[in-house]
Amino acid sequence: MGNRELHFLSNISGLLSAKINTENLVAELNTVLKEYIKFESFSAYVYDSVTNTMRNCGGNWDIIADSSDIYNIFESIKEHDFVINSKAYKLPAAIGEIKLMIKSLYMPLIKENQVFGLLELIFSQESLIDIEFLFLMKIFTSQISLKIQNIVLNEQSKINVEFHDSMKNIAKIIETQYELNYIVPLIGEMLDRFISDHLIYVFLYQNNEYKLVWPKACNDERIYETIKQLTPDCEYILTNNDKTGAFPLISEGEIIGCVAARSTLDKLSKRDISYLEQLTRQSAITINRANTYAKMLQYATLDALTGLNNRRQFEVRLNQEIATAKRQKNPLCAMMIDIDFFKKVNDTYGHASGDSVLSSVASIIKEHLRESDIPSRYGGEEFAVLLPYTHIEEAQIVGERLRKAVETAPIPIDRGNINVTISMGLAEFSSDESGEELFKRADKALYEAKESGRNRVCINKSV
Ligand code: GH3
Ligand code: MG
Ligand code: MG
Repeated sequence: MGNRELHFLSNISGLLSAKINTENLVAELNTVLKEYIKFESFSAYVYDSVTNTMRNCGGNWDIIADSSDIYNIFESIKEHDFVINSKAYKLPAAIGEIKLMIKSLYMPLIKENQVFGLLELIFSQESLIDIEFLFLMKIFTSQISLKIQNIVLNEQSKINVEFHDSMKNIAKIIETQYELNYIVPLIGEMLDRFISDHLIYVFLYQNNEYKLVWPKACNDERIYETIKQLTPDCEYILTNNDKTGAFPLISEGEIIGCVAARSTLDKLSKRDISYLEQLTRQSAITINRANTYAKMLQYATLDALTGLNNRRQFEVRLNQEIATAKRQKNPLCAMMIDIDFFKKVNDTYGHASGDSVLSSVASIIKEHLRESDIPSRYGGEEFAVLLPYTHIEEAQIVGERLRKAVETAPIPIDRGNINVTISMGLAEFSSDESGEELFKRADKALYEAKESGRNRVCINKSV
C-alpha cells in the first residue's frame, strides 16, 4: 500500500472517531475521498425497514422514490462486494473480469452480516481504477458501516422518542378527560404538531355523518370525498397520487371517526403514512378507553378532577331539592359559575395547568359555601351550585364573596401562581317552574355577567 492510500485510510479513521451527524459525515467523507480519487458524486443510502424505503442519509433523510434503480442495486449487492457499471461482483473473483473502466460504483453497508444500505460513487467519465482501489474501498466501507449504523439508530430513536411522547400525551389527556368532543380536537392538535408538512383534519362519525372536530374548518372537497370511502375493515385510503389520505378511528368494529391528511408537498411519504396509521390506531384505543371510563363514571357521583358532584349527580340532587322546596315552601337559589377566559389559560400554560386551575377554583368554591349547599361540576369549566334555604339577597352576598375570593387567590400552577376570575349568574326558584327552567334563568344571568365585562355577579329577576 502506498503513502496516498495510507493517508486516505488515516483520514477516514480520524473521521470515525469524531462525533458527527450523518449529514456532516457524508459531506466529510466526500471531501476525504476527493483527495484520493476524482469523481462526480458520492452518496450514502440506508434502508429503513419500518417503512420499507431507501433513504438518503446525506440529504435530509429524504425517501428515495420507488421507481429508483437504487432498490434493484440494493437487492443485487446483498450477495456481492460491489456493483460496478450495473453489474454485481465479488472479490477476488472480480479481479479477472473487471475492465477497470468504471462509471458507477456501489458498495454495501454491512453490520453483522446484514446489508442495511449502500454507498454510491458516480464518476463524470469512465475512470481507470485498479484492484488495489477496490480492496481499499472494501476496507473503507466496512469501516464506515459501523459509524453510519450508529448514527442511523440515533436518528431513528430520536424520531421514535418524539412519537412515543406524543402518544403518551394523548394517553395522559384521555385518562383525565372523558368527553369525546374535548379529547378529539386535542388529538388533532397533537397530530398536527407531529406531522408538520401536511394538513391534518379530524372527524367524528355521528348520526351517519362525519363531523369535523379539528381544525375549525375544512373547505377541501377532496378530503370529504376521500373519507366517504372509508370502511371499518380498511387500514387507510390514499388517493390522488398519494396526496390525500384517510385513516379510520375504529371502536368495537365500527367507525367512530377518522383522521385525514392532505400533503402540502408532492405527496404523503411512506413514513408519514406509517405514523398516521399508528397514531390513528393508538388514538382509537385511547378513545375506547375514554368511552369505557365515561360509562363507568356515569355510575359514579363525583367528578374525578374536582371532587365536586358530577353532572349526573347534580341532576339527581336538583330534582330532590326542587321537590323539597315545593313541598316545604323553602326558598332555593341557583348559581351558575364560568371561569373567565379559561381557554387562554389552557393556551398559555397547557391543559395540565388548566386542569389544576379547575381543581383549585373548585376548592375555593367549596370553601366558601355552607354544608347544605350543593356544588357540582356542570361542564368543562362551568360549575352549578344549588343553595337550599336561601333567598336571592343572601345568595348575592355568598356569590359576591366567592367572586372576590377567586379574584384574589393566587392559583398555583407548575410555573408559579396565576390569577383567574369567574362570572356568575343567580336566580331564585319560583314555585311554578322546573329545575331546568331555574338553571336556564341562572345561565341567562351568567351570560349577562359575561356580556357586561366578566368578573361579576348578575341576577335574573324575571320569572
Ligand atoms: P369566557 O368564558 O370568559 O367567555 O371565555 P372562555 O375562554 O372561558 O370560554 P370558552 O367556554 O369558549 O372556553 C372554555 C374552554 O375550557 C374550552 C376548553 O378548552 C376548556 N376546557 C373545558 N373543559 C376542560 C377541562 O376539563 N380541562 C381543561 N384544561 N380545559 C377545559
Ligand atoms: Mg364556558
Ligand atoms: Mg369560560
